[in-house]
Parts: sequence; C-alpha cells; structure tokens
Amino acid sequence: MAELLSLADAQRLVLEHARPLEAERVPLERAAGRVLAEPVAAGVDLPPFPSSAMDGFAVRAADTDGAPVTLPLAGEAAAGSPLAGPLPPGRAARISTGGVVPEGADAVVPLEVVEETDAGILFRAPARPGDHVRERAGDVRAGETVLEPGAALGPAQVAALAAAGVSEVRCTKRPRAAILVTGSELRPPGAELAPGEIYESNGLLLAAALGSAGAVPAQLGVVPDEGAELERALERALLGFELVVTSGGASVGPHDLVREALRGLRVEEAFWGVAMKPGKPVAFGVRRDHLVFSLPGNPVSALVTFELLVRPAVNALHGLADPLPAFGHGTLAAPIARNAHRLEFVRARMRTGEDRTPVLEPLAGQESHMIARAAPASALVEVEPGDGELAAGSTVRFLRL
Ligand code: AMP
Ligand code: MG
Repeated sequence: MAELLSLADAQRLVLEHARPLEAERVPLERAAGRVLAEPVAAGVDLPPFPSSAMDGFAVRAADTDGAPVTLPLAGEAAAGSPLAGPLPPGRAARISTGGVVPEGADAVVPLEVVEETDAGILFRAPARPGDHVRERAGDVRAGETVLEPGAALGPAQVAALAAAGVSEVRCTKRPRAAILVTGSELRPPGAELAPGEIYESNGLLLAAALGSAGAVPAQLGVVPDEGAELERALERALLGFELVVTSGGASVGPHDLVREALRGLRVEEAFWGVAMKPGKPVAFGVRRDHLVFSLPGNPVSALVTFELLVRPAVNALHGLADPLPAFGHGTLAAPIARNAHRLEFVRARMRTGEDRTPVLEPLAGQESHMIARAAPASALVEVEPGDGELAAGSTVRFLRL
C-alpha cells in the first residue's frame, strides 16, 4: 500500500461519483426518512384564517377602550365551528384556541383575565388590536416554498407539509444496496463452529447501517475466498443494485481476492488505501453508475469505514444537501496516544458534562477486531496523527454513532 489517500480526498472522490438517483412520487405518510427531489409549495395559507392563540373572548379592541367594561356574549367560536356571522358591535364571542376570529373582531382576551357575569363578560383592561390573534398566512402563504430539494424529511418536515395541505411529494428513490460478505472462515450465528471458524457479523452490521441510512439493503450471502465464485456473486450484485458493499478480502493477503474480482468485472477502482485507523484497506470503485465499496473484514473497520465513506455515499445518492458526517465538539475525559501517520477514530462513550457539553470517555480495547469492546460506544473521537498523546481535557471532534 504505497501512498495512502487522506480521508477528505477519499470522501471527495466518493461524492464525485454519487449522483442523486431519479425521483418518484411518495405519499406523505410514507415520506419520513426520504429526501425531497423538488421544491414543495404550500397548498393553503397557513393558518388558513385568522385564528385565536388563546382560550378566551373575541372582541373589537375599540369596544374595550373604556375598560372596565362589560360586553354581552354573542355566541361561541370553537375550533372547527366558527361563529355563524360577524361579531356584532359592542359584543364578545367565546372563542377557543384555534377558533376562527370572527369578522369584525380584532383581538382575543384570555379567559384568565376576564370575569363572567350575568350581564356578560367584564373586561378589566383595554385590549389592543391583534392581541392573541394568529394572522392568516402568518406561517406561510399558499404557493410559497415550504422546503427545498435536498431536504431530509423528518418529523418537523412531514408535519409542515401535512399542515400546508401537501399529501404527496417527489423524493429521490431509495438506493438499493447489495451486501456481499466474503471469507471462508465465516459461519452464521447459531451454527456449530469447526476449528478456525468464526461467526459472521458484518452482514448484520451493514444491513443495520444501510437501513438506518435510508437504503434498501439485500444480503446476498457469504461467499468463500475463491476467485470464480466471488466474481459470479459480484456480477449478480452489480446487475441488480446501485450500491454494492463487500466485506473482507480487500487487503494484501493471498486470499484477498475482492479487488482482483472487481477488476475482472471492469469496475474502475477510484481508490484503495486511506490514511485512517481503523479502515486503511478500504477500496472504492465504479462501474457506470454503480458504486462498489470494499470494506475490510475486521468488524470495527467495517463500522468506521461505513460511517465515514459509505453513509455519505448513501446520503448523496438520496440527494441530501449536506451528505458528509456532522462532527460535534466535546471534551476528552482520558488521554489518547496519537497514531504517527493515520487519522484515528477512537470508540468512546459520550455523556453530557456538568456544563452540558459532551464528554468523551475512550473505551478500553481499540483493536479493529474488538467488536464486543466497541459495542457500548456512542461516538467516534477523531484524533489527528502526530507524536505523543492527546491530553485529557482537550477539545476534540467526534461523530455520534
Ligand atoms: P479480511 O479483511 O478478510 O482480511 O479479514 C480481516 C479479519 O476480519 C479476519 O480476522 C477475519 O476473520 C475477520 N472477518 C472477516 N469478515 C468478517 C465478518 N463478516 N464477520 C466477522 N469477522 C470477519
Ligand atoms: Mg479474509
């Protein structure tokens, strides 16, 4: 592995090749987790009518100028059932939060500050025009853009679209992702292990990770370290899937045959070898618009390379405005020795410190085969290469898992 690419350069190469997939219509109730392919405009004014922000009484503010003043009641505007006509002058209408402020009224006086008497409603202080009235279209006007293309649809976004009367949106298709696990030593959990065999874990790791990124994962099974069989399985994956993620067999040993098989299938390798730890022997290649990631077999390496290279690719295939991982800043709880040459991602437990800033506690057992030690981690702490150690109390960048 002569010259190693920086992680930033590797991510740039990945994003250069990961173009948004085509769009499809999606009913809003199934759109959470998807990414918008086109702008969406409001179908109605929001709110669609002047509405009350409080439970209380709708009045003409001018009628309360001489407060204290008692105004006789002229009916009720509950949410969903407006007053039959305009508010007669010199009267008050009972109104609920979300009720239509009747024509003629221009203020709402909250229930808590009035007194109900036999003669009507006693207002102790004058109301001002606009008090507790939500203006029609104060949130958004019909025809105005609510969300731009590239917006990820989460809870707030689907709620905004629903409120604006949108029932269907155009989203990019979810990337279909093939998972191809390689390794002659691998057996499914639950099977009897022969000498030298271990349980296969990267298939489930990748299925969970791809699913959480919004891709549609398909496990194509475990392939032994055997050239012809590997090539057949890879060809099948390349035909049916935009994204192919392999595990294992991408390093320099005599049984690491994935890159050679991919070369045989005319997959053009964009890079192999990234200056990161774990995850150095990771490869990325392209055949037409199909992307192939060859991840190392060590489970922690597979996890880390997924988060830093594959997830951004899935985000970019979705057309997400900002596909790269978002790092936060926190305080390191214990020292970490630096790696001389490679950017290191240290598994850590994140907790909230006394001043509410994140505190990162590195976990014991940082070798790339130690998936059990990595399991309690909730963050990856980024450690720049160099000499010596990163002291406890340093401010560090971290990625939440
Ligand atoms: P490789 O990348 O094939 O050289 O594998 C590196 C290490 O990871 C070896 O110890 C493998 O046995 C182990 N390994 C490879 N694939 C898997 C897998 N799918 N699940 C668990 N361990 C694996
Ligand atoms: Mg292997």
